[in-house]
Amino acid sequence: MRAIRVERLGPPDVMQLQDTPVPSPAAGEVRVRVEAVGINFADALAVAGEYLTRTRVPYTPGMEFAGIVDALGDGVSGVQVGQRVAALGGSGAMAEYATVPAAGLIPVPQTLSGAQAAAFPVSYFTAYHGLKTLGRGEAGEWVLVQAAAGALGTASIQLAKALGMNVIALASTDEKLEIARTLGADVTILQDDPDRVKKVRDAAGGRGVPLILEVVGGKRFQESLDMAASRGRIIVIGNASREQANLRPVELMKRNLTVTGLWLTSLMSDAPATAEAARVLADLVGSGQVVPQVGPTYALDQSVQAFEDLLNRRTTGKVIIEP
Ligand code: NDP
Repeated sequence: MRAIRVERLGPPDVMQLQDTPVPSPAAGEVRVRVEAVGINFADALAVAGEYLTRTRVPYTPGMEFAGIVDALGDGVSGVQVGQRVAALGGSGAMAEYATVPAAGLIPVPQTLSGAQAAAFPVSYFTAYHGLKTLGRGEAGEWVLVQAAAGALGTASIQLAKALGMNVIALASTDEKLEIARTLGADVTILQDDPDRVKKVRDAAGGRGVPLILEVVGGKRFQESLDMAASRGRIIVIGNASREQANLRPVELMKRNLTVTGLWLTSLMSDAPATAEAARVLADLVGSGQVVPQVGPTYALDQSVQAFEDLLNRRTTGKVIIEP
Protein backbone atom coordinates (compact mmCIF):
# COMPACT_ATOMS: atom_id res chain seq x y z
CA MET A 1 0.00 0.00 0.00
CA ARG A 2 1.03 3.63 -0.28
CA ALA A 3 1.99 5.33 2.98
CA ILE A 4 3.80 8.46 4.10
CA ARG A 5 7.02 7.65 5.94
CA VAL A 6 9.23 9.93 8.02
CA GLU A 7 12.78 8.69 8.55
CA ARG A 8 14.25 11.84 10.08
CA LEU A 9 12.53 14.74 11.81
CA GLY A 10 12.31 18.15 10.20
CA PRO A 11 10.17 20.41 8.02
CA PRO A 12 7.25 18.90 6.06
CA ASP A 13 9.44 17.90 3.10
CA VAL A 14 11.04 15.11 5.16
CA MET A 15 7.81 13.18 4.46
CA GLN A 16 8.12 10.61 1.67
CA LEU A 17 5.51 8.53 -0.12
CA GLN A 18 6.58 4.87 -0.01
CA ASP A 19 5.20 1.39 -0.70
CA THR A 20 4.75 -0.49 2.57
CA PRO A 21 3.04 -3.77 3.56
CA VAL A 22 -0.65 -3.67 4.42
CA PRO A 23 -0.72 -4.01 8.25
CA SER A 24 -2.49 -6.91 9.97
CA PRO A 25 -4.66 -6.14 12.97
CA ALA A 26 -3.26 -7.52 16.24
CA ALA A 27 -5.55 -8.88 18.95
CA GLY A 28 -7.99 -6.19 20.01
CA GLU A 29 -7.32 -4.08 16.89
CA VAL A 30 -9.27 -3.38 13.72
CA ARG A 31 -7.86 -2.60 10.29
CA VAL A 32 -9.49 0.36 8.54
CA ARG A 33 -9.40 1.26 4.84
CA VAL A 34 -8.61 4.93 5.31
CA GLU A 35 -11.00 7.31 3.53
CA ALA A 36 -9.81 10.57 5.06
CA VAL A 37 -7.12 11.74 7.48
CA GLY A 38 -7.61 14.87 9.57
CA ILE A 39 -4.34 16.81 9.67
CA ASN A 40 -3.69 18.69 12.90
CA PHE A 41 -1.13 21.31 13.83
CA ALA A 42 0.17 18.62 16.19
CA ASP A 43 1.00 16.34 13.23
CA ALA A 44 3.27 19.02 11.79
CA LEU A 45 4.89 19.61 15.19
CA ALA A 46 5.45 15.84 15.59
CA VAL A 47 7.16 15.60 12.18
CA ALA A 48 9.33 18.57 13.20
CA GLY A 49 10.20 16.90 16.53
CA GLU A 50 8.57 19.78 18.44
CA TYR A 51 5.53 18.02 19.89
CA LEU A 52 4.75 17.38 23.57
CA THR A 53 5.92 13.78 23.24
CA ARG A 54 9.09 12.53 21.55
CA THR A 55 8.56 11.37 17.95
CA ARG A 56 10.25 8.04 17.23
CA VAL A 57 11.34 7.49 13.62
CA PRO A 58 10.79 5.88 11.22
CA TYR A 59 7.05 6.30 11.40
CA THR A 60 3.88 7.08 9.47
CA PRO A 61 2.20 10.28 10.73
CA GLY A 62 -1.55 10.80 11.07
CA MET A 63 -3.41 10.58 14.38
CA GLU A 64 -7.03 11.09 13.35
CA PHE A 65 -8.86 9.43 10.50
CA ALA A 66 -12.06 7.91 9.25
CA GLY A 67 -12.68 4.93 7.04
CA ILE A 68 -14.33 1.60 6.57
CA VAL A 69 -13.53 -1.34 8.87
CA ASP A 70 -11.83 -3.93 6.71
CA ALA A 71 -10.63 -6.67 9.13
CA LEU A 72 -10.99 -7.52 12.82
CA GLY A 73 -8.22 -8.77 15.12
CA ASP A 74 -8.86 -11.54 17.64
CA GLY A 75 -11.22 -10.69 20.45
CA VAL A 76 -12.85 -7.65 18.81
CA SER A 77 -16.60 -7.44 19.22
CA GLY A 78 -19.21 -4.75 18.67
CA VAL A 79 -17.61 -3.55 15.41
CA GLN A 80 -18.62 -4.82 11.98
CA VAL A 81 -16.56 -5.14 8.82
CA GLY A 82 -17.95 -2.54 6.39
CA GLN A 83 -18.85 -0.03 9.12
CA ARG A 84 -17.62 3.60 8.86
CA VAL A 85 -15.64 4.60 11.93
CA ALA A 86 -13.50 7.49 13.08
CA ALA A 87 -10.42 6.86 15.14
CA LEU A 88 -7.93 8.69 17.24
CA GLY A 89 -4.57 6.99 17.60
CA GLY A 90 -1.00 8.11 18.02
CA SER A 91 0.12 7.81 14.39
CA GLY A 92 -0.07 5.65 11.26
CA ALA A 93 -3.11 7.10 9.47
CA MET A 94 -1.42 8.72 6.45
CA ALA A 95 -1.69 5.48 4.49
CA GLU A 96 -4.22 3.46 2.56
CA TYR A 97 -4.81 1.16 5.55
CA ALA A 98 -4.27 1.70 9.28
CA THR A 99 -4.70 -0.47 12.35
CA VAL A 100 -6.06 0.91 15.59
CA PRO A 101 -7.20 -0.56 18.92
CA ALA A 102 -10.95 -1.15 18.77
CA ALA A 103 -11.10 0.80 22.04
CA GLY A 104 -9.75 3.86 20.17
CA LEU A 105 -12.71 3.98 17.78
CA ILE A 106 -14.96 7.01 18.07
CA PRO A 107 -18.63 6.48 17.30
CA VAL A 108 -19.73 8.93 14.60
CA PRO A 109 -23.19 9.45 13.15
CA GLN A 110 -23.35 7.45 9.90
CA THR A 111 -24.77 10.60 8.26
CA LEU A 112 -21.27 12.15 8.23
CA SER A 113 -19.08 11.77 5.15
CA GLY A 114 -15.62 10.22 5.55
CA ALA A 115 -14.02 13.68 5.46
CA GLN A 116 -16.47 15.09 8.03
CA ALA A 117 -15.87 12.10 10.31
CA ALA A 118 -12.10 12.63 10.03
CA ALA A 119 -12.57 16.31 10.89
CA PHE A 120 -14.45 15.47 14.07
CA PRO A 121 -12.51 13.75 16.90
CA VAL A 122 -9.56 16.03 17.76
CA SER A 123 -11.13 19.43 17.19
CA TYR A 124 -14.56 18.78 18.69
CA PHE A 125 -13.43 16.85 21.77
CA THR A 126 -10.76 19.50 22.41
CA ALA A 127 -13.32 22.28 21.97
CA TYR A 128 -15.72 20.55 24.37
CA HIS A 129 -13.06 20.05 27.04
CA GLY A 130 -11.90 23.66 26.63
CA LEU A 131 -15.37 25.12 26.85
CA LYS A 132 -16.92 22.81 29.43
CA THR A 133 -14.79 20.15 31.18
CA LEU A 134 -11.96 22.54 32.07
CA GLY A 135 -13.41 25.91 31.06
CA ARG A 136 -16.72 25.42 32.92
CA GLY A 137 -18.37 27.80 30.46
CA GLU A 138 -22.05 28.60 30.99
CA ALA A 139 -24.80 29.68 28.62
CA GLY A 140 -24.80 33.46 28.34
CA GLU A 141 -21.07 33.78 29.12
CA TRP A 142 -18.58 35.31 26.70
CA VAL A 143 -15.79 33.17 25.30
CA LEU A 144 -12.80 34.32 23.21
CA VAL A 145 -11.83 32.00 20.34
CA GLN A 146 -8.42 32.61 18.72
CA ALA A 147 -7.45 31.33 15.23
CA ALA A 148 -11.22 31.28 14.78
CA ALA A 149 -11.31 29.97 11.20
CA GLY A 150 -8.97 27.06 11.90
CA ALA A 151 -9.98 23.52 12.69
CA LEU A 152 -10.19 23.99 16.44
CA GLY A 153 -11.50 27.54 16.04
CA THR A 154 -14.45 26.61 13.84
CA ALA A 155 -15.28 23.69 16.16
CA SER A 156 -15.11 25.97 19.20
CA ILE A 157 -17.39 28.61 17.69
CA GLN A 158 -20.05 26.10 16.67
CA LEU A 159 -19.96 24.30 19.98
CA ALA A 160 -19.97 27.48 22.08
CA LYS A 161 -23.00 28.78 20.17
CA ALA A 162 -24.79 25.44 20.45
CA LEU A 163 -24.18 25.59 24.22
CA GLY A 164 -25.63 29.10 24.41
CA MET A 165 -22.40 31.07 24.88
CA ASN A 166 -21.47 34.39 23.25
CA VAL A 167 -18.40 34.27 21.03
CA ILE A 168 -15.70 36.83 20.28
CA ALA A 169 -13.56 35.53 17.39
CA LEU A 170 -10.02 36.60 16.51
CA ALA A 171 -8.34 35.70 13.21
CA SER A 172 -5.70 37.12 10.90
CA THR A 173 -7.77 38.08 7.82
CA ASP A 174 -11.21 39.45 6.92
CA GLU A 175 -11.95 36.26 4.97
CA LYS A 176 -11.28 34.19 8.09
CA LEU A 177 -13.48 36.50 10.19
CA GLU A 178 -16.27 36.05 7.64
CA ILE A 179 -16.08 32.28 8.21
CA ALA A 180 -16.34 32.88 11.96
CA ARG A 181 -19.43 35.05 11.47
CA THR A 182 -21.04 32.45 9.24
CA LEU A 183 -20.63 29.93 12.05
CA GLY A 184 -22.31 32.28 14.51
CA ALA A 185 -19.53 34.35 16.13
CA ASP A 186 -21.16 37.40 17.73
CA VAL A 187 -18.15 39.73 17.50
CA THR A 188 -15.16 39.38 15.14
CA ILE A 189 -11.89 41.28 15.49
CA LEU A 190 -8.73 41.14 13.41
CA GLN A 191 -5.91 39.54 15.37
CA ASP A 192 -3.58 42.42 14.44
CA ASP A 193 -6.06 45.24 15.06
CA PRO A 194 -4.05 47.82 17.04
CA ASP A 195 -6.99 48.26 19.47
CA ARG A 196 -7.71 44.54 19.83
CA VAL A 197 -7.32 44.36 23.61
CA LYS A 198 -9.75 47.23 24.21
CA LYS A 199 -12.17 45.97 21.56
CA VAL A 200 -12.25 42.49 23.09
CA ARG A 201 -12.78 43.86 26.61
CA ASP A 202 -15.50 46.25 25.39
CA ALA A 203 -17.28 43.49 23.47
CA ALA A 204 -17.60 41.50 26.69
CA GLY A 205 -19.40 44.35 28.47
CA GLY A 206 -16.23 46.34 29.26
CA ARG A 207 -15.12 43.91 31.96
CA GLY A 208 -13.04 41.54 29.84
CA VAL A 209 -13.72 37.96 28.82
CA PRO A 210 -14.46 35.29 31.45
CA LEU A 211 -13.25 32.37 29.30
CA ILE A 212 -10.41 32.36 26.77
CA LEU A 213 -9.27 29.45 24.59
CA GLU A 214 -5.57 30.26 24.11
CA VAL A 215 -3.97 28.64 21.08
CA VAL A 216 -1.39 31.15 19.83
CA GLY A 217 0.94 31.57 22.81
CA GLY A 218 4.12 33.67 22.78
CA LYS A 219 3.49 37.39 23.22
CA ARG A 220 -0.22 36.79 22.48
CA PHE A 221 -0.47 34.95 25.78
CA GLN A 222 0.25 38.19 27.63
CA GLU A 223 -2.56 39.79 25.64
CA SER A 224 -4.91 37.02 26.70
CA LEU A 225 -4.20 37.95 30.32
CA ASP A 226 -5.02 41.58 29.45
CA MET A 227 -8.24 40.56 27.67
CA ALA A 228 -9.45 38.37 30.55
CA ALA A 229 -12.08 39.45 33.04
CA SER A 230 -11.35 39.38 36.75
CA ARG A 231 -11.55 35.70 37.82
CA GLY A 232 -11.23 34.81 34.12
CA ARG A 233 -10.29 31.27 33.06
CA ILE A 234 -7.62 30.96 30.36
CA ILE A 235 -7.39 27.48 28.88
CA VAL A 236 -3.97 26.95 27.28
CA ILE A 237 -4.54 24.61 24.33
CA GLY A 238 -1.89 25.47 21.79
CA ASN A 239 1.22 27.43 20.94
CA ALA A 240 0.81 28.05 17.21
CA SER A 241 3.32 30.93 17.35
CA ARG A 242 5.96 28.40 18.54
CA GLU A 243 7.30 31.23 20.75
CA GLN A 244 7.90 31.16 24.50
CA ALA A 245 5.40 33.02 26.68
CA ASN A 246 6.19 34.89 29.88
CA LEU A 247 3.92 34.24 32.82
CA ARG A 248 4.37 36.33 35.94
CA PRO A 249 2.29 34.63 38.65
CA VAL A 250 1.70 37.92 40.42
CA GLU A 251 -0.48 39.02 37.48
CA LEU A 252 -2.74 36.04 38.11
CA MET A 253 -2.99 36.98 41.78
CA LYS A 254 -3.95 40.59 41.11
CA ARG A 255 -7.05 39.67 39.09
CA ASN A 256 -7.73 36.18 40.45
CA LEU A 257 -7.08 34.62 37.04
CA THR A 258 -6.87 30.89 36.43
CA VAL A 259 -4.60 29.41 33.74
CA THR A 260 -5.32 25.76 32.93
CA GLY A 261 -3.48 23.54 30.46
CA LEU A 262 -5.43 21.21 28.17
CA TRP A 263 -3.97 18.24 26.31
CA LEU A 264 -6.53 16.03 24.61
CA THR A 265 -4.26 12.96 24.63
CA SER A 266 -4.12 12.83 28.41
CA LEU A 267 -7.79 13.76 28.82
CA MET A 268 -8.81 10.81 26.61
CA SER A 269 -7.82 8.47 29.44
CA ASP A 270 -10.33 10.23 31.74
CA ALA A 271 -13.25 7.89 30.97
CA PRO A 272 -16.06 9.92 32.62
CA ALA A 273 -14.93 13.17 30.94
CA THR A 274 -14.63 11.44 27.56
CA ALA A 275 -18.03 9.79 27.92
CA GLU A 276 -19.69 13.10 28.81
CA ALA A 277 -18.05 14.87 25.85
CA ALA A 278 -19.03 12.02 23.50
CA ARG A 279 -22.65 12.12 24.71
CA VAL A 280 -23.04 15.88 24.20
CA LEU A 281 -21.21 15.88 20.86
CA ALA A 282 -23.19 12.91 19.51
CA ASP A 283 -26.42 14.78 20.25
CA LEU A 284 -25.24 18.01 18.65
CA VAL A 285 -23.73 16.37 15.57
CA GLY A 286 -26.65 13.96 15.21
CA SER A 287 -29.15 16.83 15.28
CA GLY A 288 -27.11 18.85 12.78
CA GLN A 289 -26.47 21.72 15.23
CA VAL A 290 -22.76 21.07 14.88
CA VAL A 291 -21.32 20.24 11.44
CA PRO A 292 -17.62 19.28 11.25
CA GLN A 293 -15.91 21.83 8.99
CA VAL A 294 -13.95 20.17 6.21
CA GLY A 295 -11.20 22.41 4.87
CA PRO A 296 -8.93 21.93 1.87
CA THR A 297 -8.52 18.33 0.71
CA TYR A 298 -5.27 16.87 -0.63
CA ALA A 299 -4.15 13.52 -2.05
CA LEU A 300 -1.50 11.48 -0.21
CA ASP A 301 1.19 12.61 -2.65
CA GLN A 302 0.34 16.24 -1.77
CA SER A 303 1.01 15.74 1.96
CA VAL A 304 4.01 18.08 2.05
CA GLN A 305 1.89 20.84 0.51
CA ALA A 306 -0.92 20.17 3.00
CA PHE A 307 1.42 20.53 6.00
CA GLU A 308 3.07 23.66 4.58
CA ASP A 309 -0.32 25.27 3.95
CA LEU A 310 -1.41 24.49 7.52
CA LEU A 311 1.79 25.83 9.09
CA ASN A 312 1.71 28.96 6.93
CA ARG A 313 -1.87 29.85 7.92
CA ARG A 314 -3.27 29.31 4.41
CA THR A 315 -6.00 26.87 5.50
CA THR A 316 -9.38 27.11 7.20
CA GLY A 317 -11.39 24.28 8.76
CA LYS A 318 -9.81 20.84 9.03
CA VAL A 319 -7.11 19.98 6.50
CA ILE A 320 -7.97 16.58 5.01
CA ILE A 321 -5.83 14.06 3.15
CA GLU A 322 -7.64 11.41 1.13
CA PRO A 323 -5.33 8.43 0.41
P1 NDP B 1 -5.57 25.44 12.79
O1 NDP B 1 -6.37 24.88 11.68
O2 NDP B 1 -6.28 26.30 13.78
O3 NDP B 1 -4.31 26.21 12.22
C1 NDP B 1 -3.49 26.99 13.03
C2 NDP B 1 -3.93 28.46 13.05
O4 NDP B 1 -3.21 29.11 14.09
C3 NDP B 1 -3.57 29.22 11.80
O5 NDP B 1 -4.49 29.08 10.75
C4 NDP B 1 -3.52 30.65 12.31
O6 NDP B 1 -4.79 31.28 12.24
C5 NDP B 1 -3.17 30.48 13.80
N1 NDP B 1 -1.87 31.07 14.10
C6 NDP B 1 -1.67 32.12 14.90
N2 NDP B 1 -0.39 32.43 14.95
C7 NDP B 1 0.26 31.58 14.14
C8 NDP B 1 1.62 31.43 13.76
N3 NDP B 1 2.57 32.24 14.24
N4 NDP B 1 1.93 30.45 12.89
C9 NDP B 1 0.99 29.63 12.40
N5 NDP B 1 -0.33 29.73 12.75
C10 NDP B 1 -0.68 30.71 13.60
O7 NDP B 1 -4.87 24.23 13.57
P2 NDP B 1 -5.46 23.22 14.64
O8 NDP B 1 -6.93 23.36 14.78
O9 NDP B 1 -4.89 21.89 14.36
O10 NDP B 1 -4.77 23.70 15.99
C11 NDP B 1 -4.97 25.01 16.53
C12 NDP B 1 -4.11 25.11 17.78
O11 NDP B 1 -4.68 24.28 18.79
C13 NDP B 1 -2.67 24.62 17.56
O12 NDP B 1 -1.82 25.42 18.35
C14 NDP B 1 -2.72 23.20 18.07
O13 NDP B 1 -1.47 22.72 18.48
C15 NDP B 1 -3.73 23.32 19.22
N6 NDP B 1 -4.43 22.09 19.55
C16 NDP B 1 -4.15 21.53 20.77
C17 NDP B 1 -4.79 20.41 21.20
C18 NDP B 1 -4.52 19.91 22.57
O14 NDP B 1 -4.88 18.77 22.91
N7 NDP B 1 -3.89 20.71 23.41
C19 NDP B 1 -5.75 19.69 20.34
C20 NDP B 1 -6.04 20.39 19.08
C21 NDP B 1 -5.36 21.53 18.72
P3 NDP B 1 -4.83 32.89 11.96
O15 NDP B 1 -4.18 33.06 10.61
O16 NDP B 1 -6.27 33.24 11.99
O17 NDP B 1 -4.04 33.52 13.08
